Amino acid sequence: MYRYDKELPVLGEYDIAIAGAGMAGVAAAISAGREGYNVCLIERLQVVGGIATAGAMNLFYTPYYFCEGLAKELFDRLIAKGAAVEGETVPFDAEVCINEMFAMLNEANVSLMLDTWICDVFRERQTIAGIIVANKSGLGIIKCKRIVDATGDGDICNFAGYRFMKGREEDSKMRPVTLLFTVGGIDCQTFLEYVQNNPSEFSVDPNQYCVNLETGEIRIFGFFSLVEEAKRQGYLYDSCNYFRIESMFVDRKTATINTIRIYDCDGTNNADINRAIVESHNQQSKLMEFMRKFIPGMKDVFLISSGQIVGVRDTRRIIGNLVMTEKDIIDNNHYDDCIGYCHGRQTLGQKGEGHSPDGNEGSSNDYSVREAVAQMVSFEIPYRILVPEKSTNILVAGRNVSCDFLAHKHLRNQPACVTTGTAAGIAAALSIKYDVPVCDVPMKELQQHLGLC
Ligand SMILES: Cc1cc2nc3c(=O)[nH]c(=O)nc-3n(C[C@H](O)[C@H](O)[C@H](O)COP(=O)(O)OP(=O)(O)OC[C@H]3O[C@@H](n4cnc5c(N)ncnc54)[C@H](O)[C@@H]3O)c2cc1C
Repeated sequence: MYRYDKELPVLGEYDIAIAGAGMAGVAAAISAGREGYNVCLIERLQVVGGIATAGAMNLFYTPYYFCEGLAKELFDRLIAKGAAVEGETVPFDAEVCINEMFAMLNEANVSLMLDTWICDVFRERQTIAGIIVANKSGLGIIKCKRIVDATGDGDICNFAGYRFMKGREEDSKMRPVTLLFTVGGIDCQTFLEYVQNNPSEFSVDPNQYCVNLETGEIRIFGFFSLVEEAKRQGYLYDSCNYFRIESMFVDRKTATINTIRIYDCDGTNNADINRAIVESHNQQSKLMEFMRKFIPGMKDVFLISSGQIVGVRDTRRIIGNLVMTEKDIIDNNHYDDCIGYCHGRQTLGQKGEGHSPDGNEGSSNDYSVREAVAQMVSFEIPYRILVPEKSTNILVAGRNVSCDFLAHKHLRNQPACVTTGTAAGIAAALSIKYDVPVCDVPMKELQQHLGLC
């Protein structure tokens, strides 16, 4: 260990700092900015949107007709530009989404600090008084009254010493990491004919074997025997049990591939992330060869782009004033501090946990890919899962909220991240307005601002 002291420049003073510009952070920044507060959004990447854009995960997992608030505003802007689909899920163009998010942040007067890592927090009179950052200009500090931790990994809360959980309760194992990528050059007619004529090759769930040319929604999980044959001939690696197309734009002849799986990777451990990056590109090369050689209509596919970051599904879940469980979702609990709703197709209960850490995804004993037909699940989200226990001026939003491993399956998806982000931004503003700790914001007023009453 080495200790050193240094005076750091104050780079800015804000009412509210939003840490991380994924779906949750962007929603938090826009909603706090619209409340008239001085807001800074800090992001390590050079774009906004996080996994949804930089990670190439361009599918909003809720039906368009359930989109409300900021999600509806964003997607209506994208739809007007022909860059999103009004379907049972909402596939969108990630690049256009980045531009619209920048425009909405600008309209809400949010200050941006991109290309900037958050490395720590600092205290004044025992209260967290700001963030320490590093960027090309060096180290510096940002002072603020409230922080929304939307880093996805709960980095701010970790620096502040708050408690968290990681992974599955029994063994701390986390879901696999995936580098998403986009391919072009698909002969869509040949490809879709094959898909439609071979239903036994695919998931039985119509949401995972979906070819809707009218809405433009295409999502296909399976290619089971092609994958088996490719493995037998040595073209694919052992852990690949199925091939998964998350979305496809037929007019562009492109598809987003969600098939790479890196297991035993902790997204908060740099060595693990480095291994995931390298191993992802190895898997990607093999998958490209597999597509060209085995999938009808894909013999000329080429790689357009990979995500700028590997997609980490779960890391820290902060322990908040309430830890939401999947049982709460199954019981359809109602909350006095409801801040919005989550709607998405899911299988409920142990068997269908989705992206199991055990490494059998897509195999013949993977219930959620092979047997289950997911049902629409709708539930209320309570404010207390955004409030870390003992926190006075920090809130969390996005995939690091307070919940158990199975509830996280629902809460980590983009729609819930936008809902928790929106609420956290407004709550941070109200907590300044009334000079109260974040756990004591006036609930009725928060719910009014959220359009819930
Ligand atoms: C492979 C994969 C597939 C998925 N599929 C779907 C799907 O089909 N539909 C769906 O709705 N959801 C899906 N999800 C889930 C969903 O996309 C994410 O959980 C969600 O987008 C997370 O949003 P977020 O804002 O909480 O976090 P993130 O998107 O992770 O954003 C966090 C942001 O904080 C920044 N950041 C982190 N740490 C720091 C730091 N220390 N300093 C500065 N910046 C920092 C990051 O760069 C990032 O931009 C998928 C996720 C993955 C990984």
